[in-house]
This record gives sequence, C-alpha cells and structure tokens, in this order.
Amino acid sequence: MSDCIFCRIIAGQIPSTRVFEDEHTLAFMDLGQVNPGHVLIAVKKHAANLFELDDVQAAAVARASTRVARAIRDAFKPEGLSVYQANGKAAGQTVFHYHVHLLPRHEADGMELTWPVKNPPREILEGYAERIRKKFA
Ligand SMILES: [Zn+2]
Repeated sequence: MSDCIFCRIIAGQIPSTRVFEDEHTLAFMDLGQVNPGHVLIAVKKHAANLFELDDVQAAAVARASTRVARAIRDAFKPEGLSVYQANGKAAGQTVFHYHVHLLPRHEADGMELTWPVKNPPREILEGYAERIRKKFA
C-alpha cells in the first residue's frame, strides 16, 4: 500500500468526495474549504510535482481544471476563482503528489498571496531570460 495520501485517495483506500474524473485526473473536494466549492485536481499516476508530469498528464490537468472551474463558477457564482499550485516545501507544497487548487474567491475572503516585486532593469531581465532560453536548445 502506498504511503502517499493522494495515491490512496485515488485508489479508494481513503474516502474522498469526488466531483469529476477522467483517465488521468481526479477532482475531489478539499477538506479545508477556504471557500465553498474549493476543489483539488490530482493526477492519477503519482508525480510528486510539476517537474515530474509528462505531457499527457500536463494536458489532462489543464483540461480538467478548466472544466471543473467552469462547473464551480456555475454552481457557486463566486466573484472570482484562483488557481493555486505549489512545487516543493519552499513554495508551500504540503502534499507531495501533484495537485492544483481551484479556489472560488470573494472580495476580502481572507486569502492572501502577496510577493515583494524587485522591478530589475531590462538588462537583468534579458540575462534571466537567456538562462531559461538556453535550456530549450
Ligand atoms: Zn501519490
């Protein structure tokens, strides 16, 4: 038996409240419910994070997220919806099985995500971009 809690949910060894599934993904209610309608999309085949997804899984998550987000919108009529996905402890990941949060949002609902902008000059941006572009060569 896997010791990964999401693998166990997907296998049905741990109960979950499911809302959607297809060949590669399972969508189920987040137990925390930041706002009503908070859903997680997880890949069925274990991948710890974004870096471990194959192209088929990546496409499946995008498709499922879009479909489930529309259903949440239609069911709960939130003012907005945030998509949240974390990779690694430093990024805030707590369950190390790839998943995406679909979070219905409302003005002043208490959820905050802020970051300190650095606004570096263009030549610094060009240097950063070059480091990334080289990885596609
Ligand atoms: Zn897993």
